[in-house]
Amino acid sequence: MTTEGHIYFAVASIILIKKVKLIQLITSGDWWHIILGSLLTCLLPDIDHPKSFIGRRFKWLSIPIYKLFGHRRFTHSILLIIIIAIYINIKRINFPIDVIYAMIIGYISHIIADMLTPAGVPLLWPYTKKFSIPIIKKSNIRLERLISIVIIIYAMQY
Ligand SMILES: [Zn+2]
Repeated sequence: MTTEGHIYFAVASIILIKKVKLIQLITSGDWWHIILGSLLTCLLPDIDHPKSFIGRRFKWLSIPIYKLFGHRRFTHSILLIIIIAIYINIKRINFPIDVIYAMIIGYISHIIADMLTPAGVPLLWPYTKKFSIPIIKKSNIRLERLISIVIIIYAMQY
């Protein structure tokens, strides 16, 4: 999925979660908090690729992660999400709670979006089986936009 597609998908995902009242802290969260929170992290999993949008900006971090794990491995797994959630819980980060939840949703939205491509994602990494629902055959920004718009229209029904 393209960088732009990940951004659209993150916004669509957070709107859907708020509108369908899936997570109370998102539902009651401030719109600006949750949109910005999801945008902050929606590209973060690709820090494992030095040529990605975020990898190019943080090469000092991206290159070691890439060499250590490779692309679409550890940073695209449930294991890292659990580690981040535990870290946030222990550290008691001084951020509004709706922003923190939205950041986690933004991160997860990236992984789900990557699952929509044939390459898939090793959700259970270090177990290497890749999970995929290959709706988007190639990087296709029109289809990525369309999927995001459909999600938002669906969300607005609530
Ligand atoms: Zn990715």
